[in-house]
Amino acid sequence: MDRITIAKGDGIGPEIMDATLQILTAAGAQLEYDEIEVGENVYLSGNTSGISKDAWETIRKNKIFLKAPITTPQGGGYKSLNVTTRKSLGLYANVRPCKSIHPFVKTKHPKMDVVIIRENEEDLYAGIEHQQTDEVVQCLKLISRPGCEKIVRYAIEYAKRYNRKKVTCFTKDNIMKQTDGLFHKVFDEIAPEYPEIESEHWIIDIGAAKLADTPEKFDVVVMPNLYGDVLSDVAAQITGSVGLAGSANIGESCAMFEAIHGSAPRRAGQNLANPSGLLQGAIMMLNHLGQNDVAEKVENAWLTTMEEGIHTYDIFDEDISKEKVGTKEFAQAVIANLGKVPNTLKKVTYENSNPLTLPKTVRKTPQEKILKGVDIFVHWSGEDPDAIAKQLQDIENEKLHLQVITNRGVKVWPNGFEETFCTDHWRCRYATRNGAVVEMAEIPQLLQRALENNLDVIKTENLYFFDGKQAFSMAQGQ
Ligand code: NAD
Repeated sequence: MDRITIAKGDGIGPEIMDATLQILTAAGAQLEYDEIEVGENVYLSGNTSGISKDAWETIRKNKIFLKAPITTPQGGGYKSLNVTTRKSLGLYANVRPCKSIHPFVKTKHPKMDVVIIRENEEDLYAGIEHQQTDEVVQCLKLISRPGCEKIVRYAIEYAKRYNRKKVTCFTKDNIMKQTDGLFHKVFDEIAPEYPEIESEHWIIDIGAAKLADTPEKFDVVVMPNLYGDVLSDVAAQITGSVGLAGSANIGESCAMFEAIHGSAPRRAGQNLANPSGLLQGAIMMLNHLGQNDVAEKVENAWLTTMEEGIHTYDIFDEDISKEKVGTKEFAQAVIANLGKVPNTLKKVTYENSNPLTLPKTVRKTPQEKILKGVDIFVHWSGEDPDAIAKQLQDIENEKLHLQVITNRGVKVWPNGFEETFCTDHWRCRYATRNGAVVEMAEIPQLLQRALENNLDVIKTENLYFFDGKQAFSMAQGQ
């Protein structure tokens, strides 16, 4: 018997959770449940994280969490509970299988069978955002080497375990050379350790276009958090409905299973929602717990129900479906099919689907880090770059001199274009004339002079070389 935590969530959550639990019970799943309340009511009671301390303890004690979708209220400083849970519990790998069930669910992509593996803890989802000037806000994109190593190795080990042939990596490293560049670099380092798995990299824009157009050409696709969030919805939707796909969030000690879709509030309370996404999450959970026989029984019953044309509204098609049913009736149909296997679709057998265990990431020896300058960011509401350059040159000393000014990343001084639109957010780069090393103490001295000259400095970024290599981007046009 495995004791797990469940949360029924918001919107369509309670209906799809009840349907899923009924199916699991009827299939003989060896599960005991601790139910916690998370989501909208908890947020609106004044808890900005959407979850109580006791609920956290229950999740951490049981280690396995089956969660229905929740509604994050807009504004008001509410933090997404999904993001918090994934990050707080170290659930670094988000596994989202998206498979067509042609010809029983209408899709333009009958042969699609893609697993999206989304990095789950980093990237723009660090949630570190600031307003810096009247006109400019910022969100920090953080990518770490251990984070990349864990997700890339997980994706390739996943491919190996489940007899998949190819792992594709999507990044935008032609633009984000440091952050996405690191993700791509780590992929290129680790992939050759697995010669039996084909590997390839696509820039995300054309990669996404190909995934939407010819998904049958992809197998396992690994990518940073934001791209994975967006593209797994696209991938699920083009199999026939976003309501069909489940999601496993895997960490070293805990795991959370859910549907990939949200709480669809407009469909709530009407016995309309498709419970398949959460059910698929639950099937992944049963496999994770080693209850493979139950997982197999549920999946085969679900495939049989799909084949019989018993469909909820989101996949109902007059030419294909036989009966349009609600959430409850769909669950009853799956229960009635427990023990059956599909006729046309391939029946599933699950073996060896225990959690993947990866080697611990080992911290590399620190690199030689040399300070070569500083970017200071200034809030200034003027328009003429030459005017602010004059003020910025006034605070130079013999060593640190103003090298370039950019506005939203584009060089505006020296010799900018008058066509370039400028906001009130100026990045001002100071370095030595001959590329010499800068002492850390020189930076607060520069800031002190800036303060005395009424420059409104809003932040600084140090410019480093690591192991002799420049580790910051040049200005566009520099
Ligand atoms: P959504 O996925 O909830 O719904 C989008 C549309 O997809 C719905 O209008 C509905 O037509 C359809 N749909 C989704 N699930 C379905 C199902 N099971 N059966 C039938 N049709 C289904 O996305 P949204 O409307 O952008 O977000 C609604 C709320 O859900 C937001 O508050 C959002 O923050 C939250 N959300 C939660 C999660 C989560 O808890 N993991 C994930 C995504 C969004």
